Amino acid sequence: MKRYASIVFDADSTLAGIEGIDWLASRRGPGVQEAVEQLTAQAMDGTVALDDVYARRLALVTPTALDLRALAHAYVAALAPGAADAIAALHAAGVEVHVVSGGLHPALLLMTRALGIADRRVHAVHLEADADGRYESVVPTPLTTQDGKRLVVESLNLRRPILAVGDGATDLAMRPAVDDFAAYIGFVRRDAVVAGATLTLDSFAALVAHALSA
Ligand SMILES: [Mg+2]
Repeated sequence: MKRYASIVFDADSTLAGIEGIDWLASRRGPGVQEAVEQLTAQAMDGTVALDDVYARRLALVTPTALDLRALAHAYVAALAPGAADAIAALHAAGVEVHVVSGGLHPALLLMTRALGIADRRVHAVHLEADADGRYESVVPTPLTTQDGKRLVVESLNLRRPILAVGDGATDLAMRPAVDDFAAYIGFVRRDAVVAGATLTLDSFAALVAHALSA
């Protein structure tokens, strides 16, 4: 009774109602917070390329291991209503669930484990610590680029049909590599993303109703 063999989820503003990098920036004071939030919003609206803002945001924030642990708990606290039940239902139906995120890998695992998603199915950005234990640079990955999620999805060779679910322009970029793209508007509605989507979902209950109908 499942419509898709594989479903790919965005993390920030989809599985959880925060943008991780913005949350970290809020711990650096209002100036940094405002600058980072502006860059994130522009990247997710698609008005600037993620490639252009990723390093700048990270340099402004330079998180520590302690910051990343706090963010991990913030993700769990901000989980989307119904997300855990939805993913349990998808797993029970035999759907392969992946997370493809431009967020920071070490901060996502507490949430994805709480959702029952295996670590090997969580694809996100890994960080390199400097001598002071601050994270200023990333391990090179397509996920810091505008079109990177598409490249990662293609490289996974997922069973089809594939549904991708997300709120941002970098999620919509997966559209050519998947069978359907759902704009998730439970937290943020971005008109350009909705316009390019196959369907729009305002809740995880609606996602289950769609994905497990026929
Ligand atoms: Mg997002």
